[in-house]
Amino acid sequence: MAYRKFILIGIVLAIITGFVFGGILPEYAEKVSLLGEILLNLLMMIVVPLIIFSIINGITSLGNLRSVGRMGKRTIAYYLATTMLSVITGLILVNLIRPGEGISSGENHPEASYIIDAAAPQTVHLVSDRLGKERYGSKYRLVLADQGLQGRIVSSSSMRISVKQWEETDRERRAYLSRPDRSRVPVSIIDGSVTVTESRLKRQGTGISIGLPAPEGIMDRQERGLSGILEEILVGDKKTGREGLIPRNIFYAMVNMDFLALIFFAILFGIALSSLGDKGAAVNEIIAVINDAIHTIVEWIMLFVPFGIFGIISARIGAAGGFSGFLPELLGLGKYFATVVMGLSIHAFLVLPLILVLFGRRNPFRFMSGVVPALLNAFSTASSSATLPLTMEGVEAENGVSRRVSSFVLPIGATMNMDGTALYEAVAAMFIAQVYGVDLGGAAQVIIFLTATLAAIGAAGIPEAGLVTMVIVLNAVGLPLEGIGLLLTIDWLLDRFRTTVNVWGDAVGAGVIEALESK
Ligand code: ASP
Repeated sequence: MAYRKFILIGIVLAIITGFVFGGILPEYAEKVSLLGEILLNLLMMIVVPLIIFSIINGITSLGNLRSVGRMGKRTIAYYLATTMLSVITGLILVNLIRPGEGISSGENHPEASYIIDAAAPQTVHLVSDRLGKERYGSKYRLVLADQGLQGRIVSSSSMRISVKQWEETDRERRAYLSRPDRSRVPVSIIDGSVTVTESRLKRQGTGISIGLPAPEGIMDRQERGLSGILEEILVGDKKTGREGLIPRNIFYAMVNMDFLALIFFAILFGIALSSLGDKGAAVNEIIAVINDAIHTIVEWIMLFVPFGIFGIISARIGAAGGFSGFLPELLGLGKYFATVVMGLSIHAFLVLPLILVLFGRRNPFRFMSGVVPALLNAFSTASSSATLPLTMEGVEAENGVSRRVSSFVLPIGATMNMDGTALYEAVAAMFIAQVYGVDLGGAAQVIIFLTATLAAIGAAGIPEAGLVTMVIVLNAVGLPLEGIGLLLTIDWLLDRFRTTVNVWGDAVGAGVIEALESK
């Protein structure tokens, strides 16, 4: 249809202008974020009823339990197989390219004496030792172990290191007082009395170390292991209250957008409704009509997609400080970035199309062009869940996949099938091992392979969810979680690439299952 072409052109223009606008004028770019928020709200608003009604409708239109079981098995087999293939691609590349070599995880100088600059108490001069070749930036932290103080590094040379401000190394004792101008003074609370940290700073000492700080928000999950993630997938996370596959409360799952729980309930409800035979027919019809209405709303939302994408892209680039803010970060991790993107490209442009041709008997170019709006939306929003309405629309309206198949395969895919995330988790874990000089042999890489697959299944279809589930992979092979700190500054960008591949994997899945089902 002609209007689709306009939408597509609009999206492409939105991404280009968003990039340029956000890159050159970051301070203004954030002002258009409202457009992005409107789009995300619209997509999230529709996705809960879309999942529930389309799955129920999909199952009742399959007719009998045996067909549901067969399609379920095929879907899970496809999702597992492609996720594993993508992890293998990532592991091969990261072993060949070794992007972590040459990047420092820090250094230790226990014997080095230092003096603190009298005029600038955040600057440390090394007296008896010098740092290696590396210049450390804000990803690293300087620790004065003899004083129990640490600070995020602003800049470093071989004999001088400046930090932003001093704080206690002991998190428990760290606190701040606010000045009237809202700036914060680090203080320590010892035995109930408050001391301004800087005033107790000694002017000289011995022993410094530089390392990566523990990323906030991840360390409170540091205990996460393999059995933990299985439990989380099945019954939910008690800490955050997130529901798992088997929910306590489906309304809570709706409010919190815990899609696995909704899928489980909708499948049960659909099967129950089918088993009622003629008695259920009237309700089936009503649900089919509701489903049509929801799809009509999705078509309306599509008209707003280009505007929303412009807002999201410019605001995101603006938040990263424009081109001048994020390009240096990108160059610093160039090899790692290239490894992930190369792996994703091989999976997206070679492996998945091949599977589509062999098992789906489809022309991959035509199939991809049918879902381009969804792929670009995935790139812009970094969320498979928020993209689900567009993926369904593209696969059905453009690629002729039946609603019966798409409404079963795609919601499950958006929640559980994440080829891009799995590949990224494996590459990132190996990258961290290389940075820390940990030599991971075959057995450890098999563990990475298995945990990365599981971590991707457990990751929610929301921005940067993969970063959090990576803790499982790192824990399983005993790598330091601090390594995640190295990846944070460019993760927002890699997230977009991997989400696009996640959605493409789901779409190809719908094409393949459609072909198998229609045999
Ligand atoms: N953002 C990804 C998605 O929605 C998940 C991830 O962080 O890898 O598919």
